[in-house]
Amino acid sequence: MANVTTRNGVRIEVDRELCFGFGDCVDTAPAVFVLDEYDKATVIDPDGATIERIVEASQNCPVDAIIITDADGHQLYP
Ligand code: SF4
Repeated sequence: MANVTTRNGVRIEVDRELCFGFGDCVDTAPAVFVLDEYDKATVIDPDGATIERIVEASQNCPVDAIIITDADGHQLYP
């Protein structure tokens, strides 16, 4: 489980066990997510898109592998 925090404290976690590399998150927020050499999503820049866009990327993940938590610890998605 990789996890990074944005400048305003939102945490982005990618469950690499769940991720199967179809890249919907990359299509939605290409400045934030890339596929690594194992075809697993990884975060290259947590501030590369608005929080709304990052949540949208998480919603677009077919297996809910991207977990978004706000600065207060509330889960925004899934
Ligand atoms: S959309 Fe989900 S399954 Fe697809 S690459 Fe991104 S994290 Fe992995």
